Amino acid sequence: MLCVTAHPDDEAGGFGGSLALYQELGVETSVICLTPGQAATHRGGAKNDQELAAMRREEFAASCRILNVSHGLVLDYPDGDLYRQNLYRVVYDLALEVRRFRPQVMLTFGPEGGVTGHTDHSMASVFAALAFHWAGRTNRYPDQFRDGITAHRTQKLYYATADFTLPDRQPVTLAPANAVVEIGKHLETKIAAFKVHRTQAPLWPLFESHVRQRGKREMFHLAAALNAKVISQETDLFQGVD
Ligand SMILES: [Zn+2]
Repeated sequence: MLCVTAHPDDEAGGFGGSLALYQELGVETSVICLTPGQAATHRGGAKNDQELAAMRREEFAASCRILNVSHGLVLDYPDGDLYRQNLYRVVYDLALEVRRFRPQVMLTFGPEGGVTGHTDHSMASVFAALAFHWAGRTNRYPDQFRDGITAHRTQKLYYATADFTLPDRQPVTLAPANAVVEIGKHLETKIAAFKVHRTQAPLWPLFESHVRQRGKREMFHLAAALNAKVISQETDLFQGVD
């Protein structure tokens, strides 16, 4: 399972319960975070962007350890500016990771940007969706086909979604959930992973109240599937996966 995010802490906040649950069920998990989060409002005492980026890379690694993520990678794109990046290049990087890791299932935000509507979340969604589709085509980035790398078709793509929105924010129009994953005890794992992001400590109370309100489940929208048919309600992201 490959999860594409925008900022260190998204892996915990958006996907932590499912990452921890599926790892426990024997799934190899990978998270690619596009930015080191250097533009965050909460700076944890960092003197400059570079120092904050270094601190947040360490927090990401610690969070991945709590979630038992098999492979965690933070790329170096600029926080807050993903919508101004070269689309060809970002999708190139992600398609290469898809062709290397060869996931069966991919997770990312929806193009609305999740409940926060953050533009970086929206762009992570767009880039990840294109990487999902293009990694499987031999006419996209054919220069990657060396050293044993071949095209790879991931079987399912999900957008994280929710059944609530945040008050006092710009409007977001969420994708309807068709997969509800019961994360059980991993609600606590997810909160613990979020709380190793110490630079973001001022966000902890807000985060915790939202996830506790959401309960012991995470919701997803099936955006693409290798064997697409009439959409069904799912409780397992690997339902129908070979
Ligand atoms: Zn984020």
